[in-house]
Amino acid sequence: MKLEEVNKQIKVCRRCRLFETRANALCGEGPRDARIMLVAQAPGENEDREGRMFIGPSGKVLDELLRMAGVCRDEIYITNLIKCMLPRYRKPKQDEIVACSKYLDEEIDVINPSVLAPLGYYASRYIFMKYSLDFPDREEVYTIYGRLFLTSNGKDGGAAKKIYPLRHPAALLYNEGLSEEMERNYHKLGILLHDCAWFKRCPERRRLQEVSMDNEWLELYCKGDWESCPYFAVEGGRER
Ligand code: SF4
Ligand code: SF4
Repeated sequence: MKLEEVNKQIKVCRRCRLFETRANALCGEGPRDARIMLVAQAPGENEDREGRMFIGPSGKVLDELLRMAGVCRDEIYITNLIKCMLPRYRKPKQDEIVACSKYLDEEIDVINPSVLAPLGYYASRYIFMKYSLDFPDREEVYTIYGRLFLTSNGKDGGAAKKIYPLRHPAALLYNEGLSEEMERNYHKLGILLHDCAWFKRCPERRRLQEVSMDNEWLELYCKGDWESCPYFAVEGGRER
């Protein structure tokens, strides 16, 4: 299905009760070949009124976190799990998630990002369940934020995806004490945006691919968090 078709359906959707209280059903925004897709929970009041993603207070926080990470908004695709505003910012109900997640599934199929970054509890829970990853109890959910997970090949009918759950930017509006952790975790989005700079010349990467066929290392480090690769400093040092 084409993205235009998905967006057309979202705009007029009445699959759940939330159509009664929305002004706008929000479509995702960003490039169609985005490597990273951020998945937020649902639009807020400002977004509902204007029909644009992340333009309220959370949007300001997101923009600042992205700026510090060296990432432009137009380099990533941003969408929501629930496309219509939740009245009085209540939690999404399960039947609303079931009704609306078909659109997110279609967006993932069309955009085919290699990194999915769900923001907050509900988006993370949905993405983890979609890719059959173990999801922690609610009080333990903080343990997954800022960690990179790899899905099994073929579970979604395509290549393995990297899942990088993050706290929702709104968390910083209520708890400034999270700033250091969130800046550190959002910083990795800038890393995940590109393969390791030594990818083509790195002997360790060649050995991993040709000898040990270690696809997990390749995905998690060479095409993922290369900044944390123990060989990265060595290879970088050699080049310098
Ligand atoms: S929340 Fe999703 S399923 Fe419900 S009416 Fe809006 S677009 Fe449709
Ligand atoms: S991430 Fe590590 S192993 Fe992979 S190309 Fe970079 S330096 Fe080499």
